[in-house]
Amino acid sequence: MFSVDIFSCYAVAGVGSLVGLGLISLIQTEQPRVSYALFLYRCAFICLAALGGVIFAPPDLIPWVTKAAIGFAGMGVTLLAWAFRQLNGRRTPPWLGTFITVAVGAGLWGFAFGSDEVYVRAVGIGFTVVSLGMALDQGWLILRSARVNASELTLLLVAGGFALHWVFFLANVLTVPGPYPPHWLHSPQWLLPISGISFALLPLAVASVVFAIINDRLNQQLRARALSDELTGALSRRGLRELGERMLAMQEHQPSLVAVLMLDVDFFKAVNDRYGHLIGDDVLKHITHVVRERLREDALLARYGGEEFTILLPVHTMQEAHGVAERLRHAIESTPCETKVGPIRVTISIGVSFHCPNSSLEEDLSRADVRLFEAKQNGRNRVVFGDNDC
Ligand code: GH3
Ligand code: MG
Ligand code: MG
Repeated sequence: MFSVDIFSCYAVAGVGSLVGLGLISLIQTEQPRVSYALFLYRCAFICLAALGGVIFAPPDLIPWVTKAAIGFAGMGVTLLAWAFRQLNGRRTPPWLGTFITVAVGAGLWGFAFGSDEVYVRAVGIGFTVVSLGMALDQGWLILRSARVNASELTLLLVAGGFALHWVFFLANVLTVPGPYPPHWLHSPQWLLPISGISFALLPLAVASVVFAIINDRLNQQLRARALSDELTGALSRRGLRELGERMLAMQEHQPSLVAVLMLDVDFFKAVNDRYGHLIGDDVLKHITHVVRERLREDALLARYGGEEFTILLPVHTMQEAHGVAERLRHAIESTPCETKVGPIRVTISIGVSFHCPNSSLEEDLSRADVRLFEAKQNGRNRVVFGDNDC
């Protein structure tokens, strides 16, 4: 077994924290929630970097500088836990986060004035509680989320390893009697390299994983923005093509059907002409909202063009699709859009087709479009439905 002296561990932990601080400082974001989390991470790394300061202490001050640094390190680990919660949208009230962080630091500093035996136990208990709390909290947040990625699992592994190391440390100080050397933490030789590595690894791993997590979320946001329509938030035409084709491909293996609905607002030009385009835009947002509220999660709603919308609707029977189309038509007719010039009522016409095993989305859409045209010809505010598509 190679041996590591405690000062190398402190040096490695200090350097690791500074590198982590540098990495985190490179991340740029405009989201207040994320920049607040990054601020907490920076504070955490500055606190953890204090461990590196021990190697610069004059020999007669080493015990006190070490104890001061360990107090800061306890605050650093607490801040890491707080920052991760913040990054994941779990708000900790700032007064509570600050209180717990300061309490951990003050507790560790307070015990520094007691006997070495008491101090070492306090450090063992303090770090075990904080690091286990952090690992369990992160595990709970990560494993419960709908989409777990490799970066988050890596973070969980590092946090779990760090906590486990403190459990061993605590078990050791509770079972091996003193006296303890005054300037270090009574780790057995085999635990020292693990301490050093885990303290050095923690900030580095946290920084790089946070980097990866933020980058991944940014990519998702960009993708969502590219696939959705700016005005209404419904899918864009491109989004409809990408997600719609995926839905149709999946549906081929299932007994259910996909209905394709083409919606067009009746006499919408008159709304624009009478109230102006901005009010017209409000009416389009209102229509999207009313329709979206009445669709199940598995339906796709897209803005196909100006005031035309498309819905891909998984259904079990053709009658079910007819029922949904009628309900949407009725909902729009009976729910006026509240605007600053008063309530505006509009109606919609709908053409419905069904996806056939060997037809393309474009073909399904053009069959629905023909029926939409028919609905317009027959007087508008109606659904035209075809049950002989396939
Ligand atoms: P019809 O019942 O035959 O569908 O009559 P219509 O007036 O709705 O038909 P038309 O297709 O002639 O008019 C569509 C109008 O939608 C024309 C255009 O000014 C308006 N429009 C298209 N995109 C937008 C938009 O983003 N915002 C607003 N406010 N209006 C839009
Ligand atoms: Mg139109
Ligand atoms: Mg229209």
